[in-house]
Amino acid sequence: MHEVSLIESVIALVEHERAKQDFARVFMIKLKLGALGHAEPDALRFCFDAVTSGTIAEGSGLEIEIVPGEGWCRDCRKTVPLAQRFDACPVCDGSHVKMTAGDDLRMVEMEVA
Ligand SMILES: [Zn+2]
Repeated sequence: MHEVSLIESVIALVEHERAKQDFARVFMIKLKLGALGHAEPDALRFCFDAVTSGTIAEGSGLEIEIVPGEGWCRDCRKTVPLAQRFDACPVCDGSHVKMTAGDDLRMVEMEVA
């Protein structure tokens, strides 16, 4: 499952932070998930406990904030909302929209002790 490798990369980030900050426990991990990305928030939540088990993030909570899709239209030169990847521009109906937001997964915050 794709979501498993996404969480594994989040754990790798947490481990990387621990090397710098030296904390013992993680209470909460907050992610920003693009609405047009390939990961399902429910699937992320579903596999989070299993994937974090035995890692520094074991037992921590998971918060997911959805980032809406956004694109840059080359035809009308505007930033426009994007409901679907490869959608036409909602303003001018042009097809030269480059997705600029809503496609990635980022860790924005974590609570540690
Ligand atoms: Zn347009």
